[in-house]
Order: sequence, then structure tokens, then C-alpha cells
Amino acid sequence: MILPEHEVVIGEDEIKARIKELADEISADLGDKNPLVVVILKGAFIFASDLVRHFDFPYEMDFMSTSSYGSATKSSGIVKILKDLDEPIKDRTLLIIEDIVDTGLTLHYLVQMLKLREPERIEIAAFLSKPARRKYSSEVKYIGFEIDDRFVVGYGLDYQQKYRGLPYVIAIE
Ligand code: 5GP
Repeated sequence: MILPEHEVVIGEDEIKARIKELADEISADLGDKNPLVVVILKGAFIFASDLVRHFDFPYEMDFMSTSSYGSATKSSGIVKILKDLDEPIKDRTLLIIEDIVDTGLTLHYLVQMLKLREPERIEIAAFLSKPARRKYSSEVKYIGFEIDDRFVVGYGLDYQQKYRGLPYVIAIE
């Protein structure tokens, strides 16, 4: 693949090791809850697929899609649900899997919306977090890596729908 000018921010081995740690932590916390794993498309698909393959407890999966940045690299401040969950979530434990928490707007909106459906509990796992950019707080219990305020791609994250399949994370300008 031809890559733009970039710097590797998180390498493949580092990702693998961290995913296993996170999966163990989640297994200890939610292993007896039969959680519904809610993958936020598209960016979280690789993180989610690596994570759940370490899960050694019963769980179910569903997928949601929210509007993202489109082709720009800054948020428009508007969150739309493009694909909703297939099943009701009343009294269920949810594990939301997100690619990256930036301002926190997307998660904030999503959690408020899902709470109206009366799940028993909502936990959140995000592969990346940019704490410096946070405007809306959400309790993200499981964070893969905290990164500086840079635009990154790879491991599910895209720039104009490209580079999602990179097995590591790079920063592009
Ligand atoms: P927030 O609502 O927290 O500001 O933004 C979350 C969404 O913005 C993420 O799910 C992701 O789609 C997008 N995003 C934020 N920062 C980055 C980044 O550095 N790279 C990519 N590819 N997407 C990002």
C-alpha cells in the first residue's frame, strides 16, 4: 500500500499485547453478564474483532453506525444514527466498542440515546483516546491507548475510507 508521509504512533506488537490485556480485564468484569457487544461501525471493526477473539465467556454482538467526520478531519458537531441495533437492550449489559474518543460528542450522544432504552449497564471500550480534545465526558472504562492530538489512521481508522486495514497506527498531517 502506498502510504502518505507518516509516523508510526503505535506498532503492531504493542497493539496485540494491549488488546489481550484489555480482553482479560473485560472478561474479569463482564464474564458472567452475557453482555451485548455493540460495535460502532466502521472504525471499531478491527479492534472489536481482535478483542472478542480473546473473550472466553458468552456474549452476543450487534452493530451500530453513526455519522463521522465525512471526508474532513475535524468534527461537524452533528451525530446521526445511520444504522441502529437489531434487538431491544432493556435490562441487558452493553459493552460499546468504539475506535477513538476525540471530543467525546459521539459517545456522549450515543450513551444518552441508549440509556432511554433502559439497559442494565453500559460499559465502553475505546481503542484510542485523545484526552486533550475532550469536551463531553463519558465514562470510558477500557482504553487501549491515549494519544496526543494528531490525526491517526490504521487498525480500523480511516482517512477518506482508506488505510483501515493497516495493522498499526500512523499519524498523518
Ligand atoms: P468525537 O465525537 O469523540 O469527537 O469523535 C469520534 C469520532 O471521530 C471517531 O469515532 C472517529 O470516527 C473520528 N475521529 C476522531 N479522531 C480521529 C482520528 O485521529 N483519526 C480518524 N481516522 N478518525 C478520528
